[in-house]
Amino acid sequence: MSGDHHDHDHDHGHDHAHDHARTFRPDQDDTITHYRAMEIAVRELLIEKGIITPDGVRRAIEFMDGRNPEYGAKMVARAWVDPEYKKRMLADGSAAAAELGIDVGLLKLVVVENTDRLHNMIVCTLCSCYPRNLLGLPPDWYKSRNYRSRAVNEPRAVLREFGTTIPDDVEVRVHDSTADMRYLVLPRRPAGTERLDEAALAKLATRDSMIGVALADTP
Ligand code: FE
Repeated sequence: MSGDHHDHDHDHGHDHAHDHARTFRPDQDDTITHYRAMEIAVRELLIEKGIITPDGVRRAIEFMDGRNPEYGAKMVARAWVDPEYKKRMLADGSAAAAELGIDVGLLKLVVVENTDRLHNMIVCTLCSCYPRNLLGLPPDWYKSRNYRSRAVNEPRAVLREFGTTIPDDVEVRVHDSTADMRYLVLPRRPAGTERLDEAALAKLATRDSMIGVALADTP
């Protein structure tokens, strides 16, 4: 390690001569963009003033990285078995998540329902906005320039490449996520699942079916 990136020893006082890059997470490179510099500056100040701690930041990142599609699948399975819950979920996704103990913070979550006439698909054309609270971290392809542009311009072709063929008489609607509004697709309940309980149904609600690039699995 170069002298510029030595570990910060918290036993000694804050020394402004130190390179603030020392607080980079180990997986980050050293490229300092405007926003990264701002993030480092704000984070260091908050730590210096005792408002947050490095361990607290680490814990928050660990929590965020630990989220996974099971949260979204739980909502989908509930909606499949409980029509009243489904109504509430389509009216207010954030409240419906909270109802199942899933914290989405201040995020506005919009749930879009697939039907026999309509197939929904989500994208963030600008960057990588994604319902992380419900699905975990987005897959690499979701963040790719290719998906971000083609999902809008030729959604059916993209769907076919994912192995998902949507009949011509079913409308395909693409939803563009933003920083403060996220979408979750409520896939159609697969046929032949009448006897399955909620836990078994949740296993069929895959990540990709909730992004809308696939249908829910069949049992
Ligand atoms: Fe984005």
